Amino acid sequence: MDNKFSHFYQRSEDQRRAIIADAAHLDETELQLLKYRAETGDAKALIENYVTAYQLPEGVAVNLTLNGRTVVVPMVTEEPSVIAAASNGAKLASDAGGVTATVESRLLMGQIVLQNVSVFASVDDWVALHRQQLLDVAAAAHPSLIARGGGPRRLRVRNLGDGFVSIDLFVDVQAAMGANMMNTMLEAVAGVVQSQLHPNTLFSILSNAADQSLATATVSIPVNHLATSQMAGKTVADRISAASQVAQLDPYRAVTHNKGIMNGVDAVVLAMGNDWRAIESAAHAYAVTNGQYRGLSQWQVTDDQLVGTLTLPLPVGTAGGATRVLPVAQVNQRMAQISDVSQLMAIVVAVGLVQNLAALKALVTTGIQQGHMKMQLRSLAMSVGAETPAEISAVTTSLTGKKDPSEAAAKRALQEFRM
Ligand code: NDP
Repeated sequence: MDNKFSHFYQRSEDQRRAIIADAAHLDETELQLLKYRAETGDAKALIENYVTAYQLPEGVAVNLTLNGRTVVVPMVTEEPSVIAAASNGAKLASDAGGVTATVESRLLMGQIVLQNVSVFASVDDWVALHRQQLLDVAAAAHPSLIARGGGPRRLRVRNLGDGFVSIDLFVDVQAAMGANMMNTMLEAVAGVVQSQLHPNTLFSILSNAADQSLATATVSIPVNHLATSQMAGKTVADRISAASQVAQLDPYRAVTHNKGIMNGVDAVVLAMGNDWRAIESAAHAYAVTNGQYRGLSQWQVTDDQLVGTLTLPLPVGTAGGATRVLPVAQVNQRMAQISDVSQLMAIVVAVGLVQNLAALKALVTTGIQQGHMKMQLRSLAMSVGAETPAEISAVTTSLTGKKDPSEAAAKRALQEFRM
């Protein structure tokens, strides 16, 4: 390793940027950009080796009626069209009475994995016998959670094969995502297991599967609300239902179907200062619950209604982690008027559902590119240097209708406008 990076974490921000600029041959403008952005950055101490603040745009999805309440939804994303589509889908849903969302369960699971276990029953029986002692040890490891009404709820033992056994702990983590709280409790319990039962514990950590933390959104839309200038509403509804069926049959399609759902989900989760990798991993694991990767949502036509359902594992938090450290995440919670974690789960799953509705409707009617292209052209204009609204508009107007709008054509259009 290059010596310049030795003790990098102990350097000042300026020194770190200077070392990087030197190593990567950044010019003065690039270096100044890092410095300028760093000064506006929040919560620098959240991470290690801080050098700058990377910005993503935040917008809001509007028109969402959820459980009878109008919700403005903050979304952070770099992808054009996502927020427009979420607002479109939300409007379709709201015109039909809105989305209903419920939280079915909210427990986090963690595991203590033992290795070289020769007789599974010896662990299973011991845990059954010492169940209350182990739950008490877990509770004592994070007493403030008990004071809040949460805490460890139950234990389970699973034989993983090849001498590995998992002791699973289920915890009510209240308003937090709970990863750190869970890991603290698991390590305390593992200490007892190691000293009293089995010397060979391999690791203790939460499971990100989060299948005990589920929320479901449903919406029912009269098919005539879906009519376009080219297609009858019933036809659109039948085609949305058929597209959803394809995502149940074909994993190749299911991945794209679910990516569209996660466009909305991740954007809200990110805006709320939550761990979106946890949500992503949980969602994709849930999509393969029955042995085949499938679409997470389903759409069916019954009695002239298009009925959509989406269930997601949502280990989100309104307390803990970065939620209280990132100032804008706090404002975003207030913007969406979130007063408890179940409301956040409901909003996230509802946005996933309306995002999916808008995407499927576009896909089976005009095709996905028509709506996308307008926003993609804006991105293309900005990527070649268009800055003002007038420049962006001139470049996009010039590129609209071109079969294959290229970067070179965008540059030319910008130059012509500036002449
Ligand atoms: P914290 O470690 O921040 O713990 C939760 C905190 O929230 C506690 O300090 C708790 O206070 C406080 N709190 C305040 N109000 C409440 C409430 N109503 N209910 C519950 N807690 C409350 O966060 P988590 O344990 O939630 O862990 C989340 C973080 O862990 C995320 O940043 C995540 O990225 C990270 N992580 C994720 C892993 C994974 O997904 N595999 C692994 C390791 C970390 P008090 O102490 O008084 O109880």
